Amino acid sequence: MIARIIQFVKRFLLPHLVWLITSIITGIVAASASGLGVPFMVTYVFPVVFHQTGQAEPELLKLVPQLKELPHMTLLLLACASMPLIFIIRGLAMWLNSVVVNVLGIRILEGLRTTVFHHVQQLPLSFLEGRRKGDLVSRIVADTQNVQTVLSHISNDLVKQPITCVCALFAFIYLLITVGRWEIFLVILFVGLAAWPIITFGKRISTKALRAQEGLGELNTVVQQNLETQREVRAYALEERQIDDFDQASEGYCRNTIKLVKYQRAVIPIMESVTALALSFLLVCGSLCGMGLSEFMGLAAALFFTFDSMKRAGMAYNRLNEAQGAMTRLAEILDEPNDIDDPENPVKLPQRVKGDITFRNVTFAYGNAKPALREINIHIPAGQIVGLVGPSGAGKTTFASLIPRFYEATEGAVLVDGVDVRDVTRHDLREQLAIVGQQALLFKGSIRENIALGHQGATREQIDAAADSAHVSAFLSSQPQGMDTQLGEGGAGLSGGQRQRVAIARAFVKDAPILILDEATASLDAESEKEIQQELDHLAQGRTTLIVAHRFSTIRNAHRILVFDHGRIVGDGPHEELYETCPLYRELYDRQGAAEA
Ligand code: ADP
Repeated sequence: MIARIIQFVKRFLLPHLVWLITSIITGIVAASASGLGVPFMVTYVFPVVFHQTGQAEPELLKLVPQLKELPHMTLLLLACASMPLIFIIRGLAMWLNSVVVNVLGIRILEGLRTTVFHHVQQLPLSFLEGRRKGDLVSRIVADTQNVQTVLSHISNDLVKQPITCVCALFAFIYLLITVGRWEIFLVILFVGLAAWPIITFGKRISTKALRAQEGLGELNTVVQQNLETQREVRAYALEERQIDDFDQASEGYCRNTIKLVKYQRAVIPIMESVTALALSFLLVCGSLCGMGLSEFMGLAAALFFTFDSMKRAGMAYNRLNEAQGAMTRLAEILDEPNDIDDPENPVKLPQRVKGDITFRNVTFAYGNAKPALREINIHIPAGQIVGLVGPSGAGKTTFASLIPRFYEATEGAVLVDGVDVRDVTRHDLREQLAIVGQQALLFKGSIRENIALGHQGATREQIDAAADSAHVSAFLSSQPQGMDTQLGEGGAGLSGGQRQRVAIARAFVKDAPILILDEATASLDAESEKEIQQELDHLAQGRTTLIVAHRFSTIRNAHRILVFDHGRIVGDGPHEELYETCPLYRELYDRQGAAEA
């Protein structure tokens, strides 16, 4: 835990050093006003107020003889004013401390949340694909929120209580020395007794909190999956099963949270009982050794502040342990290395590459799985339209994904215009590519904004021209506000074909030299497919185009076709040639011809 906290401090606390120092200073002032001010007040100032003639001279007047020169009334007023003065200083310092620490907490959390989100944007796709989305959302939103809640709850106590404890303990020992009753030192044993539940429960709280946060991640996953698959859930009458899954996840979360609460809430009663024991021990010792009331009160105040601040620091420590569960889950994301880093001295690509692509002896495997691509050697000259065909799982999409460097070749190299894709920045490389996938993924916003995403800084005219080329305009008349029609999440409000047209318009506006069409019409009905195919043919003109094809009709304009089988390219050539020479190609082609006949 210590290492994790140090790492956290270095990363998120040091950038706010000024706020940190202010919080420590105000914490020290507030803490010493409580821990030292009040016990010394009770021991030294009260006897001055309640001093009767004939009694022994109060300690304070012996320590500061000049006070004796003051008129009695002035001395009394001064003594009485010192109490509110200490509390005003304490109150001001506490307020300032509380504001500063809260600002610090909010800033740290902002840093933490944005760092995690930024990091997720850089992480390899393979990492994100292996994770459940609901759990990731839970980490980015709920875990950071959890750390924030904990920090805002404990922020006031984090600096102040440990210092109050030390000050009060110091005051207690100092007063004890002046009283000279060493047996009372045994009270210190109670401090050890009080530390026991804090330390023991701290560990348990940390484990239970981690389980509870994991439970929340599980719950989020179930909800997210359920909302994303509502059509399937209803079509297959899976409601009951989904409710069961939810109930189970919810029950697990509740169970872990209850366990957490059990340990959290045990600390206060134990600490309060120990405080009462310590005070009664002090009372017994005090009465046995004939201690004066003001001495007893001073010691009791110091003891009370010691235990009270220990209790509060203990509670803060336990909540910190609770946040540790969330911090561990966040650290799992932050510690995940980005294995597709940009090179230190990247090669600058020209504004617009020609679009020449080479795979030089490329082998690629997802994690530890067997290779999805094996020893691929292929050259695609600029401007060529290439169809990729083969059975499902043969490696077509993987092949296309290596060009934008979504994944890194395990062996060999992928070159664009003769430059290894690892030698340029991912941003520069991806500027040269447009991709239209099977599902057009649209964002919340207007149709115009969705098209403009293809090219930042595109003019209105460019966007309109792209919309025309993709025949978006053909369905705009049915939309209430034309190009400014607002789309829901994922493009809700448009049909599959309409969404695909917006995605194609996005590729038109990007006007990239390399185009990847990954089964871009696979999810459309035959009618929409035919229409959209024309726009895609238009889009492919003059660009190096890779078409991952499930239907042969989509590659009728291809100059060349690559046939994939078990991660290898087993055929390469134009349709007629392949039909004659490549049995797999002929089989696939004939099978589809028979299916469509
Ligand atoms: P195709 O596009 O020809 O259908 P893919 O390139 O999608 O084939 O897949 C090739 C192989 O890689 C398959 O065995 C598939 O199971 C595997 N694969 C694809 N994507 C992933 C992934 N994200 N993680 C792990 N394995 C994957």
